[in-house]
Amino acid sequence: MEGVQRFTHRLFPVPIVAQKCLQKTFTKTPLTTTHLALTFRKPIFTNRSIHQEPALCSNLITSASIKTYSRSSSSTSARAGWFLGLTEKKQVLPEIVKAGDPVLHELAQEVRPDEIGSERIQKIIEDMVKVMRKAPGVGLAAPQIGIPLKIIVLEDTIEYISYAPKDDIKAQDRQPFELLVIINPKLKKKGKKAALFFEGCLSVDGFRAVVERCLEVEVTGLNQGGQPIKIDASGWQARILQHECDHLDGTLYVDKMVPRTFRTVENLDLPLAHGCPKLGVRLLS
Ligand SMILES: [Zn+2]
Repeated sequence: MEGVQRFTHRLFPVPIVAQKCLQKTFTKTPLTTTHLALTFRKPIFTNRSIHQEPALCSNLITSASIKTYSRSSSSTSARAGWFLGLTEKKQVLPEIVKAGDPVLHELAQEVRPDEIGSERIQKIIEDMVKVMRKAPGVGLAAPQIGIPLKIIVLEDTIEYISYAPKDDIKAQDRQPFELLVIINPKLKKKGKKAALFFEGCLSVDGFRAVVERCLEVEVTGLNQGGQPIKIDASGWQARILQHECDHLDGTLYVDKMVPRTFRTVENLDLPLAHGCPKLGVRLLS
């Protein structure tokens, strides 16, 4: 389907972006309460064998999840030790959990409000932001770093968006927004319009599929400081919010993708199969 080429959006930023993102300093400043639509779309990867691709996207405290988190951290630390030596203290970030790990397919647990200010929760949030920016991605849910808690972070920047085709940016209603940290998010779909576009996930690396998302949503929850927040979002930001909140329900985008649209990133611009719905905005089915 011709619409694929015009509307395809790589959900994750490019290598250059990744490098700059790595230089960013994460601030603990609580997110602003309101942000409008945004979209994340990925720049074109010229050499996927070298560059990591970006994607949308990851606390019950199940033993499996904790093991996953611990395993990732310890293994990474061990590897880092070879290169850093004992005198250097470079922070080791959690690895992104991939599809198939139980933590991605279970319900996440709510964070107790009185725990939000704790060193543990604040560290998880800081790690999530760093992992998301390093990937790079425009969103991440705590289960994606092996933590089965209801925490999501998302962010889209002018720079990320600049790598996307202008037609896509407009069609997806993608606009930049500052870092959002939402704890115990509750998503409410609004309006009667749906948007069909390709999306990807850091936990399903290297693939994309069309997913129908509500064009407008309202999300309430708590910010990093534990204060109540409410976000009214549309377009790409609404998609990111739905994608990340799905993670907290143990749902990956592939669990609700439009059949026969699944493909590798390399084949993203190839025509959709006959009978597949056109990309774009339409009334909810
Ligand atoms: Zn994801």
